[in-house]
Amino acid sequence: MTKIDEKLQPILDDVLRRNAGETEFLQAVQEVLESLGRVIAKHPEYADHALIERICEPERQIIFRVPWVDDAGQVQINRGFRVQFNSALGPYKGGLRFHPSVNVGIIKFLGFEQIFKNALTGLPIGGGKGGSDFNPRGRSDGEIMRFCQSFMTELYRHLGEYTDVPAGDIGVGAREIGFLFGQYKRLTNRYEAGVLTGKGLVYGGSRARREATGYGAVYFVNRMLATRGEGFDGKRAVVSGSGNVAIYTIEKIREFGGKVIACSDSNGYIVDEAGIDLELVKEIKEIRRGRISEYVDLKSGSHYVEKGSIWDVPCDVAMPSATQNELTGKDAGTLIRNGVTAVGEGANMPSTPEAVRLFQEAGVMFAPGKAANAGGVATSALEMQQNASRDSWTFEQTEERLAAIMHDIHDRCAATAEEYGVPGDYVLGANVAGFVRVAEAMQAMGVI
Ligand code: NDP
Repeated sequence: MTKIDEKLQPILDDVLRRNAGETEFLQAVQEVLESLGRVIAKHPEYADHALIERICEPERQIIFRVPWVDDAGQVQINRGFRVQFNSALGPYKGGLRFHPSVNVGIIKFLGFEQIFKNALTGLPIGGGKGGSDFNPRGRSDGEIMRFCQSFMTELYRHLGEYTDVPAGDIGVGAREIGFLFGQYKRLTNRYEAGVLTGKGLVYGGSRARREATGYGAVYFVNRMLATRGEGFDGKRAVVSGSGNVAIYTIEKIREFGGKVIACSDSNGYIVDEAGIDLELVKEIKEIRRGRISEYVDLKSGSHYVEKGSIWDVPCDVAMPSATQNELTGKDAGTLIRNGVTAVGEGANMPSTPEAVRLFQEAGVMFAPGKAANAGGVATSALEMQQNASRDSWTFEQTEERLAAIMHDIHDRCAATAEEYGVPGDYVLGANVAGFVRVAEAMQAMGVI
């Protein structure tokens, strides 16, 4: 583990003390501060005026009750969150996560990561994140709608196209965004398309938004592989998860000539040596909202492993695309022994700090989530652009912009790592390139 610079240690100590118990948030802050020692050695002015302390403190945190009535007529209570972390570069921007594991520490970690990710895109968006401990699994469409309506009944007063623009994340896809947008419109009596992204195409959504995070992650990894004269062609890949990010990661890897042989959900993973049948996965997960285990009943030659680690499956490229800390030091050791050459994070912080260290020490190319999965939020910003100009771009036009943005993020991270004396360290490159943009904007605006 990199040592924290002595000037930054008191800042980290203070963050640890003031946010005790928020494990994921502290993990994310520690990783960024570990990268910043080299920056303040070169630019001590970035540590002036408590700039780093201010970046670690959200501008605003909203926690609220979400009461709703289930299909049996019982009143259910959930907790809603929105952390508006940093608006130096633009309105707060970041998804909503509906999952029973959600708490303020998880939302703060995601919001903190979002600041640097959004800065890396080069687009005018600040960082935020939100969600609820609501579990959508097994709920009817009516229950999902009533929950979303209740959630928005508090959240709407904190949103606006120039204030805060949420999108989807785990458990929040096109169906939920539709219900949330409908309720926002009803409460405000305004057709403010730019207040939410990930909308359906018929009411202001952007083409390629659904595909953007997965496609973008593959564009990033492909560019990273190219630095060693390689590509996806002929490579075996493993992609964890089978949600929005995983599905479109698999799709793009296939287009680039790679073969994805395993994917998962929270119950287990499937292996299909012939290559995952993506149409079947889409049918099971997107249409039937079923479990990935159903795949093996419909596809001969495949098998399902309940529990267990998907990272036991040997591969050349691993793309963790489910959730935080899903790839441990032990998993990293297994992947390395099995000859993995590149890891690209589709999810947010899916690799533990120990796993990241092991990959880097073993010379495995490693693309951190805040750079590799920025294609989703970048395309959300393109959706805002289309909404603002009352325009709608073609799929090709949007994907072309996405690819250019991902290549640009890759190149910026690589150049920054080089500039700071650690070529190939995309973790440092992403943290530093994102930080510098935010720091310069904050300094220009005075102490706010
Ligand atoms: P989805 O809800 O569409 O899919 C999530 C997938 O991950 C499902 O297969 C789910 O399985 C699995 N999963 C969720 N939680 C766990 C867990 N605790 N343990 C094991 N598996 C789990 O979410 P997304 O695909 O949108 O998000 C996946 C990741 O990508 C998240 O880290 C998210 O923050 C990140 N991300 C998403 C973006 C987007 O545009 N959607 C943008 C940038 C990052 P199950 O169905 O069993 O719960």
